[in-house]
Amino acid sequence: MNLTVKVLLGMALGIVVGLVINLGGMNAAGSLINEYLVNGLFHVVGKMFVNALKMMVVPLVLFSLICGVCGIGDIKLLGRIGSKAFVLYMVTTAIAIATGILLAASLGIGEGMNAETTAKFTGKESPPLSEVLINVIPSNPVNAMAQGEMLSIIFFAILCGVGLLLVGKKAKTVVEFVELLNEVMMKMVSIIMALAPYAVFCLIAKAIASLGLDLLAQLLGYVLVLIGVLLFHLFVTLQVVLKVFSGLGSKIFLAKMRNAQVFAFSTSSSNATIPVTLRTVTERLGVKNSVASFTVPFGATINMDGTAIMQGVATVFIANVYNVDLGMGGYLTVILMSVLASIGTAGVPGVGLIMLSMVFTQVGLPIEGIGLILGVDRLLDMIRTAVNVSGDAVVSVIVAKSEGQLNLDVYNDPDAGAFNT
Ligand code: ASP
Repeated sequence: MNLTVKVLLGMALGIVVGLVINLGGMNAAGSLINEYLVNGLFHVVGKMFVNALKMMVVPLVLFSLICGVCGIGDIKLLGRIGSKAFVLYMVTTAIAIATGILLAASLGIGEGMNAETTAKFTGKESPPLSEVLINVIPSNPVNAMAQGEMLSIIFFAILCGVGLLLVGKKAKTVVEFVELLNEVMMKMVSIIMALAPYAVFCLIAKAIASLGLDLLAQLLGYVLVLIGVLLFHLFVTLQVVLKVFSGLGSKIFLAKMRNAQVFAFSTSSSNATIPVTLRTVTERLGVKNSVASFTVPFGATINMDGTAIMQGVATVFIANVYNVDLGMGGYLTVILMSVLASIGTAGVPGVGLIMLSMVFTQVGLPIEGIGLILGVDRLLDMIRTAVNVSGDAVVSVIVAKSEGQLNLDVYNDPDAGAFNT
């Protein structure tokens, strides 16, 4: 059985077991199943796996990006790849949030609902844009790596690659050494991936078991509209963007992305999924490392289509619940703020809520409104993270195709780079 099938099986089984535990009330505090299974075995195995993925992120991004820059060999081309990716990331995020707002507003979700909530939301603030810009340049690269500051790591790695290029022939041994290290990192990712089916099972069983399913029913309108827009963005908008800008078909793209999406779904973190996305984009979709090593970690940090959709839908929902009329100007501010907020916030679980509090402050919506949707956010975070990484991959393919850095034979071969080890 190939790994993708096993991972999907793990996910399906995780949903079933999680539902049984949740609906059977076995997730109550004090129950043995909750203590030893949900918060015991599932929690430990799941967390160990996520840690293993996170462990790979910094060295993988560092080495593959240095290799990528050396592989491109041309600083101007690097600038072009960077600007194209940046513009596409911002545009797709803006489209995503606009779709969310339009659909949620036309369906009038949240109208006539009672605004009472007991859940409290206390989130940290998203960093201001000026701080984000300053922090792109790390004052201490080792510290940036220790903290996993993606934009700083990207900056350092690119500069390091450019330095190697400028040194030229003399640096050949170092370049070869980094290439070798990059290969070793990729092998390590494959080893971790082999354990994925079991880990995915544990992560999903735990998440579903602990979810407030009754809350889900109460907020059904919000949840359904949000999931609908997320799926629309994944299966329609992104595929149209892929077709228009690269002329490539989406069937094969979607089939090959399945693994990365399941990982994003079970970890709720675009950052932790970087190793899998990078491997999928290079080995399965045929994007040369010179492009992917930059666009994938960059996208995991600045591109969040799914999160933007959540912000659009949540804003309309809360505005309706509290009877606030945001008007055209208000919604335009929401779009602008969400796009900006996505630049400075890393792809980690739950970050969407932090961005949302920033948006709410800006347009004058009550922050405590976020408490209303807090309980269902865990599940929605899983789905929107899968959309986030899909957006990263679409842009990577488009940029690579436009720069002649896409291997079409690999893209069109259904078995290329399959996750079998
Ligand atoms: N968990 C999301 C991600 O990592 C961000 C969010 O929507 O909270 O991409």
